[in-house]
Amino acid sequence: MTPPVLDETHDPSAISWVESANAADTDFPLANLPFGIFRHDFEERPRVGIAIGDRVLDCLAATHEGLFHELDPAVRAALTSWSLNALMTLGRDDARAVRRVAHRLLRANTPEGARARAMAGDILASTDAIGMRVPAEIGDYSDFYASVHHATNVGSMFRPDNPLLPNYKWMPIGYHGRASSIVASGTPVRRPWGQVVSSPEGPPTVAPSARVDYELEVGAFVARGNRQGDTIPLARAEQHLFGLCLVNDWSARDIQQWEYQPLGPFLSKSFATTVSPWVVTLDALEPFRTPSFARPAGDPAPLPHLNDAADQASGGFGITLEVWICTATMREAGKPAERLSRGDFGGMYWTLAQMLTHHASAGCNVRAGDLIASGTVSGPERGARGCLLELAWRGQTPVTLSTGETRAFLHDGDEITLRGWCERAGFRRIGFGECSGVLGSAHA
Ligand code: MN
Repeated sequence: MTPPVLDETHDPSAISWVESANAADTDFPLANLPFGIFRHDFEERPRVGIAIGDRVLDCLAATHEGLFHELDPAVRAALTSWSLNALMTLGRDDARAVRRVAHRLLRANTPEGARARAMAGDILASTDAIGMRVPAEIGDYSDFYASVHHATNVGSMFRPDNPLLPNYKWMPIGYHGRASSIVASGTPVRRPWGQVVSSPEGPPTVAPSARVDYELEVGAFVARGNRQGDTIPLARAEQHLFGLCLVNDWSARDIQQWEYQPLGPFLSKSFATTVSPWVVTLDALEPFRTPSFARPAGDPAPLPHLNDAADQASGGFGITLEVWICTATMREAGKPAERLSRGDFGGMYWTLAQMLTHHASAGCNVRAGDLIASGTVSGPERGARGCLLELAWRGQTPVTLSTGETRAFLHDGDEITLRGWCERAGFRRIGFGECSGVLGSAHA
């Protein structure tokens, strides 16, 4: 594995004058500095923010105070924008320049830090006085199927003798998702109506879905795009990836089962997709890179355009991922959420870079602010399965909660929260914050 290219922003001994950023368990220490879009309670205008402990650096205010004066005018303009698309369009090098300045501004014992601290009341927002938005105007959203454990589990439910289709080990399988129904963490989600069948041949009835599920996924926001007709070589693919978030690809399994052949999921997934609001940059994730999936003997090597030595050596990300549930009954009883699963991002047969390169390989143009998601992240053990379809095995082995409630699929009032973080000796732990949503009842 190639050693990470690190700079002062990864220094684990650096402390912030924002006290909460120095807590060992914070998702947002000085080494993280993820970008997001927030709105103050007192105004409509969305602003670019950088999370630091339990505070947010208001980039509009900090730019107006002159704190980002050393950056190019185009970068400063991006920091006063209404979404992250402008910064994503500029690309990773400019985002890294912002990261370095923000690190100095928020660090204790630096002249820049002292100057910023004197303005703390103007440039820091408290997370309880703001609302988080979807971080970019997402033009297009594509969802993959890259966890070989998920694909094998789901495939074996429907094709016990032949769980993986012949194409799986040759290309990252994906489908075009729906960008318009992507919502930020905390937004309620409504149970969908749809066509469902009681026998595989139909006929269908129209009913509220009885099999709503979540899918634990990692998302990647595209930085610069490619021109239509051009491709994105794998060796340069990560220059086109801005950063990562958590994604819940809500799925109505009964609707999906009837509609998905022959063209794939449609209404079963387009009713809502939840994203965590903070985009953790690839620079912040640099210490936590891992080799790509070790293909077992007998698996084909990736085709040349999907094969790159650096991607093999460090194309993965060491992210621990969890799913938590809080039912209405648990909330009413004042009980805390319970963990449904814990796994990691290591079982992905394809890297995010390979997914992006494949996406553009026929000439499709991706654009800054586009979202690609990994597909359900599942591990080999039962406790690492990233959706209820797998955890409860098509409803055959429901999950029992401490209240005595069981779940084969989600009930109205269930809140699903995804969490993710990275840890490695010698570095600060960084996290993604939460990706959560409550499933509400269907329309009458
Ligand atoms: Mn999915």
